[in-house]
Amino acid sequence: MRVERIALSGFRNYDEEMVQFGPDVNVICGPNAQGKTNLLEAVYLLTGAHSFRTRFDRELIGFDCDWGSVLADVESAGRDQTIRLLFKRGQGRQVTVNGAKKTSASLAGLMTAVLFSPDDLYLIKEGAAARRRLMDNAICQLRPGYASLLADYNKLYDNKTRILKDWREKPSLLSALDEFSDGLARCSARMIRYRASFVERLAEAAAPIHRDFSGGKEELELQYTTVSTVTDTRAPAEDIYRQILDHQRTHRQAELDAGSCLTGIHKDDILISVGGMAARSYASQGQARTAALSIKLAEREIFKAETGEYPVLLLDDVLSELDGGRQEFVLNRIGGGQTLITCCEDENISRRTGGRVFSVREGRIR
Ligand code: ATP
Ligand code: MG
Repeated sequence: MRVERIALSGFRNYDEEMVQFGPDVNVICGPNAQGKTNLLEAVYLLTGAHSFRTRFDRELIGFDCDWGSVLADVESAGRDQTIRLLFKRGQGRQVTVNGAKKTSASLAGLMTAVLFSPDDLYLIKEGAAARRRLMDNAICQLRPGYASLLADYNKLYDNKTRILKDWREKPSLLSALDEFSDGLARCSARMIRYRASFVERLAEAAAPIHRDFSGGKEELELQYTTVSTVTDTRAPAEDIYRQILDHQRTHRQAELDAGSCLTGIHKDDILISVGGMAARSYASQGQARTAALSIKLAEREIFKAETGEYPVLLLDDVLSELDGGRQEFVLNRIGGGQTLITCCEDENISRRTGGRVFSVREGRIR
């Protein structure tokens, strides 16, 4: 899996730019605010997942432009594919693969990427939203059906939340409440199965990496947690659906009183423990970083097992945040696939990786 060439037009701070990447390590360097992360964002968008920075396509379009586009030649499963994303201001996006119109979700598996940014180093200590994002971003790329389930879930959730917020002023809204709850339960049941199976695989892949990383001293364990009435996250979706309905029923009045959605998979989490202790509460900063690195590297291994190829690895400013030992560990493990590394200084990292170096200045790449 690799991006051979990418051309940006009216995308973020790029007017018209084209870059040809090497098959291994590519180091993208330049001072702050020049377009390094914007370039990684363009590559990430080719996976069909949403941007890792915004939910709004309009933010991707250059300030003075009516549209923005990302055009890329990608090698995937031994085949050359041309992916084009066109973002039209106020008119949605258009996706084409080799000239044929597609949906964003259908890019799942065609082009895969794992992003690793300094925020990910706080994956363990942060709130559950970061860990849900990890699950959603990965599963959207691997399973075409998941992205549309997630979009449906978010829409139903927004509608239910609006009813719970406004029902006192407009009691007629209540007539639709149970319908939205039912829709949420149906979506949730299917998403829980995807999430449970992903976390199980992530746990299996992360444990040996972490053991290696900690010199055999520490055991890393991951466990998916969801709505408390769900007894078996791998049970048939119909059974999970009924168990979620039970939870919704017992919380109906509390939701009306609180004016917000209290039950559902928007509260899911991954419980992470190091040496049997809950990492969020007890891990030291160093242990938390090591665990986060193991999890991100494990994500890359899952993509490889799933598609037969390593995903494109996007390391956004992350190496400069790591001490020498951890840098070494990451750099020793990124072989076998294409990697794009951004950093503010070039010499040290490019010397150590032997990568091709690109310099970014004000939306121009050299
Ligand atoms: P840093 O080293 O600080 O992370 P960077 O090189 O990664 O910097 P980017 O995040 O890529 O910087 O952003 C570069 C510039 O792009 C920013 O100054 C930002 O204002 C600009 N920018 C963001 N969105 C748009 C847009 N839609 N149109 C034009 N410019 C934009
Ligand atoms: Mg940046």
